[in-house]
Amino acid sequence: MVKLMTRAEIEDFFSRLKKQNPDPKTELKYKNPYTLLVAVALSAQATDKSVNKATEPLFKTVDTPEKMVALGEAKLADAIKTIGLYRGKAKNVIALSKILIEKHGSRVPEDRDALEELPGVGRKTANVVLNVAFGEPTIAVDTHIFRVSNRTGLAPGKNPLEVEEGLLKIVPDAYKLHAHHWLILHGRYTCVARKPLCPTCVVRDLCRFKDKTRELAVEKPKLKMSLRAKRVKR
Ligand code: SF4
Repeated sequence: MVKLMTRAEIEDFFSRLKKQNPDPKTELKYKNPYTLLVAVALSAQATDKSVNKATEPLFKTVDTPEKMVALGEAKLADAIKTIGLYRGKAKNVIALSKILIEKHGSRVPEDRDALEELPGVGRKTANVVLNVAFGEPTIAVDTHIFRVSNRTGLAPGKNPLEVEEGLLKIVPDAYKLHAHHWLILHGRYTCVARKPLCPTCVVRDLCRFKDKTRELAVEKPKLKMSLRAKRVKR
């Protein structure tokens, strides 16, 4: 099992991520807590980029539960059809919008249980909404945070809930609000799944991962293309 980091190392780990990016933000585009909730629900098993592509034009005119219900499931499905699992997601978004109107005065509840009762909203989505819209120090464990926490020895766990509970215990209070974004961005752009960019990683000396990469991956396809281009020129 990976050796855990010490308290001093954890402090150092987050202070370096903070130095790199003092005010991290979600990469999902949204206008208000409602559009954030919809965007996060649509992002399950999809990239933020693909969600933004569909929601940026949608949210220009549809940014409240009432407007979403008026749009209707069929038109919503058409607007988000580039996002994976869009039919089920459109159904959930219409259903959750109706519940927000009927039970919560058209507002997004600042309450974990109420959020998790909404169709298509699980613990991860509730954590993101509580963190980003309401400033609560929650940590939503997605695939990136799960990987980074296990590799580095920060908070190893067999499943997302174990990792979330581990992180909540060890992340110093001063870093809790933004820990979620720092870890996601680190996993998305540096500690990537297949070949982590260890040589350029700011926490390399603190990280416990035993298979750190020694050199940055060479982009073979581009190399081949340039060679082919040279041959053609000759
Ligand atoms: S050193 Fe490598 S494995 Fe460790 S956190 Fe950095 S990128 Fe990830």
